[in-house]
Formats: sequence, C-alpha cells, structure tokens
Amino acid sequence: MRIDLHMHSRVSDGTDAPAELMRRAHDAGLDAVALTDHDTFDGLAEAADAASELGLAFVPGLEMSTQVNGRSVHLLMYGGDQADGALAAELARIREGRDGRLQAMLAKLAALGMPLETAEVEAFADDASSLGRPHVADALVARGYVADRDEAFGAYLADDGPAFVDRYCPPLEKALSLVGAAGGVAVLAHPWARGRRHDLPPAVLRRLVAAGLDGLEVDHPNHTPADRRQLGALASELGLIATGSSDHHGTGKKRGFELGACTTEAGQFERLRALIRQRTPSPR
Ligand code: AMP
Ligand code: FE
Ligand code: FE
Ligand code: ZN
Repeated sequence: MRIDLHMHSRVSDGTDAPAELMRRAHDAGLDAVALTDHDTFDGLAEAADAASELGLAFVPGLEMSTQVNGRSVHLLMYGGDQADGALAAELARIREGRDGRLQAMLAKLAALGMPLETAEVEAFADDASSLGRPHVADALVARGYVADRDEAFGAYLADDGPAFVDRYCPPLEKALSLVGAAGGVAVLAHPWARGRRHDLPPAVLRRLVAAGLDGLEVDHPNHTPADRRQLGALASELGLIATGSSDHHGTGKKRGFELGACTTEAGQFERLRALIRQRTPSPR
C-alpha cells in the first residue's frame, strides 16, 4: 500500500485542480492520499469525489500557517470538523493576511526593477482561495524576470529575500488548540526542513505533545537522512504518529517532490485513521 498524505492543488499553490491531482495520484500508483492545501478546505469536496470514483482512499486535510519565535512553521490537520467556527475564523484571518501583503511585495519588486500588475499575479491565483508567494513567482516567470519558482524564491521571495513581506500567522500553540478543538489530528509538517530545526529542537517537540501534537512528518523531501533518523526515533519515543509524504505542488516544485516521493507506513496510517474515527463525529 502506497500512502502520501501531503500535497497541494490549485486551490492553494499547487498547479493541478483537485480532481486532476487525484487522477495523477492514482496514475502514480498511490492507494491512499490526503489533500493538504494551505489554510483552506476549499478543494476537499472535489478531491474526495474524484478519489472515491478512482477507488483511492482519501483523508481530508489542511496545512495551516503558524509561527514559532516569529518564524514560519506549518501544521498539518487531518480529519476534524471543517465547519468549526473558531478554526474557520482563524483560517479566514490568515488568508486575509496573505491577500493583504501582496501590494507591499509588488512595491518591493518594483523597487528591485521588476514591476508587476496585481492582475498578473491574480491570473495565476485564479482558482486559489489561498494566495501565496508561488503565485507571485509564476508572474515573475511569465515576465521573464526569472526562469522558475525556484529562482524566484532563491533570489527574491524567500523568508530572508529582498522582496519578502511578513504576514499574519498564529502561534503554533494556538493552532494546535484550534485543530484539537475541531477534532483534527495535528501533525507537524517538515519540522526540520530549511533550518527549522533551530526553532523546533527535540526539547520543544517534547513540550508540543502536551499542547496537543499527534504526529511528526518524518519522511519529507527537505529532510536529510540524519533528520529522518532522529525525528523517527523521537516520534517513537514520544508515542507520536510518524508520517512520510511528498509535499507535491504539481509542476511548481521540481526535483524530488513527485507524488509518492516519500510515503507513510501502513501501520502509521492506521493509527492516524483510528484517531480521526475517534475524534470526528460520523455524519448520519
Ligand atoms: P507563502 O505560502 O506565501 O508563505 O509561500 C510559501 C510557499 O512557497 C510554500 O508553501 C512552498 O510551497 C513555496 N516555496 C517555498 N520555497 C520554494 C521554492 N524554492 N520553490 C518553489 N516553491 C517554494
Ligand atoms: Fe506550498
Ligand atoms: Fe509546508
Ligand atoms: Zn505543503
């Protein structure tokens, strides 16, 4: 059984519509998937329908933007009540922050000699409920300023880049409590990718268990073999679910983020599904 529990559609910063993404997951030989768009549930209904037609096991998910010490940390939510009011309000606030920073980013890019119209960015975010830097990157590519999203981030858009503009993200503890109150299963996304190890050392991860953390994404394309060994050992020590996933973004992320690039063990997937069944009231 091949299980990939972290991927993005055009509803956030992936490049496939939710139904297309499910078709491609099926073609890639996956048996179980979760759609985890950034800060929105909007793609889940379409993806669930497509998955069911394909005979693909589907877990509804979300990747929530949060922060620790002012630095970006991503939290995956699986299952739970998508209509939970407090969670929905927080997600709306995060998405407003995404929209609100666009003009400041465009001003920085213009000052760097790369003017862009708002509409050029919006054209790439047509189907997106969650506007992100990758859509700005796509507009930079279309203008010929950069070759691809990778170069756009490397030169301008990364957190330490010259066109970066901060946006609202709740503290990780607050996100954990919102996800928990909504009955979701909380798994820390790529905890040690891109220098995050500094903000989330083992001692901090241990404390997060009491704050409601259920799992760690151990296998991820941005984790080194040593990261994976240490996070795997930590997960079993702390009784956390250990997942593995591709973080696929369609053609938006190259090299190593293909569907199924990292996968979750069947036993860990069963633990995840058991927790979801326990916490999510079944519709009748
Ligand atoms: P934002 O959601 O606006 O904060 O932008 C962050 C998103 O940009 C992440 O979710 C990644 O999907 C994407 N990203 C970060 N670095 C890169 C990169 N080097 N190439 C392509 N996409 C990237
Ligand atoms: Fe993304
Ligand atoms: Fe992420
Ligand atoms: Zn992701």
